[in-house]
Amino acid sequence: MIRLPTNAALLLDLDGTLIDIAPTPDSVVVPPDLPPSLTRLRDHLGGALAIVSGRPIAQIDALLPGIATATAGEHGYAVRHSPDGIAVCAAVEPVPPDWVSAAKDWVSGNPGAIFEPKARGFVLHFRLAPQIGDGFRAKLAALLADNPHYRIGGAHMAWEVKPRGIDKGRAVREIMAHPPFAGRLPVFIGDDITDEDGMAEATRMGGFGLRVPADFANAAAVRAWLAALGA
Ligand SMILES: [Mg+2]
Repeated sequence: MIRLPTNAALLLDLDGTLIDIAPTPDSVVVPPDLPPSLTRLRDHLGGALAIVSGRPIAQIDALLPGIATATAGEHGYAVRHSPDGIAVCAAVEPVPPDWVSAAKDWVSGNPGAIFEPKARGFVLHFRLAPQIGDGFRAKLAALLADNPHYRIGGAHMAWEVKPRGIDKGRAVREIMAHPPFAGRLPVFIGDDITDEDGMAEATRMGGFGLRVPADFANAAAVRAWLAALGA
């Protein structure tokens, strides 16, 4: 079993890492043993446990209320340093409203497609209609052509319009600058391409990253490992 350094800080992605990917973002299920297991681990680490997700912080709170000391949402756009604190958001231009209306039009014309708004950007999900993924990518590329503020990111069966310069590496830097994380070794665990920035930053700071292979069964393996670490 991989053991953590005694002075580790854990920064954990959520979907595909702690909870299983579901057909839609709203239909994920938090296994009942996950919250107590994460709480034990948080206490074991002196509080140095964070969730770093692409979801907005409100959604992370709804799934895992009051557990992580620090929470980063929307890939690091919003960072909150304590459960009862206020999220600090990066300075980012709002997404142009005509992009949002165009994306909603595409989704309404394609059964199975889902539009997910974010505070800065949006996601087009096509897990239930994989054949439209390439077409959506081309439409987004035309929409965003040469835009200095936003870029297209790939996720599990989804395209995300996200702010340039905001990534999970930023979230790691922000979280690790504050107690109880400061001075610890960051260990970032994620399953997706967006997690690579978090892993790279953790490594740069003297810690390391662990990549969960993309597979429906692997979040269960992560949960079992974390439960053993905190036991
Ligand atoms: Mg993930």
